[in-house]
Amino acid sequence: MTSVARLAEMLRAARDAVVFTGAGISTESGIPDFRSPGGIWTQMAPIEFQDFVSSSAMRKEAWRRRFAMEAEFANSKPNAGHVAIAALVGRGTVGHVITQNIDNLHQLSGVPSERVIELHGNTRYAKCLECGMRAELEPIRAHFDVHGEAPDCPECGGLLKTATISFGQAMPESEMERAERATRACDLFVVLGSSLVVYPAAGFPLLAKRGGARLVIINREPTDQDYFADLVLHTEIGPTLQAAMNLLKETA
Ligand SMILES: [Zn+2]
Repeated sequence: MTSVARLAEMLRAARDAVVFTGAGISTESGIPDFRSPGGIWTQMAPIEFQDFVSSSAMRKEAWRRRFAMEAEFANSKPNAGHVAIAALVGRGTVGHVITQNIDNLHQLSGVPSERVIELHGNTRYAKCLECGMRAELEPIRAHFDVHGEAPDCPECGGLLKTATISFGQAMPESEMERAERATRACDLFVVLGSSLVVYPAAGFPLLAKRGGARLVIINREPTDQDYFADLVLHTEIGPTLQAAMNLLKETA
């Protein structure tokens, strides 16, 4: 049996699968991997949360960088991998998608937002650090272009920041809890495009295995956790999932 056929067979047998995605699925949509060699964070240091809060110069720089990347985010579209995951959610195979990505592509591919658990937040909108109010980026950018800095929260005067989790910022508690609960409960855990190096991401595969789930890792490069996976594919995510979905449909 080929690896793709085994993947299709495991997806067919699953009753409550969890998909866990990292940068590798989004690079197939043209979103750069910030952490990769040559990635943006190897060229300029990321802005730490405490510097964002305490320095208006750092806030300006953070917003400048965010708006400089707007074209890449705005023009990116879900790829075959995202579409296959959305189909797996739609047929009830996958209950939750846990993602390290901040690009909103799972929601854009049609996964209901209540099924997406974003460990690192979302860069497509902003949030007030004081009252938590959601704010859209477009008016913030218009203000930034005129005044050279982002506006304060219209509700409470607090600082607005993209709704992402920065270095030095606490992990979102409720998302972590939901992710751990879904991982413990699942019968199949599928890692897509994560090198599984950064915690907390790195802890999830073992958590799933301890709960009795089978583990699949699809990543272009080998990971440190390949050795205890039930199936490992070092392939592109989109074509691999698409091929597995075709097999699922043929034998449905
Ligand atoms: Zn506020």
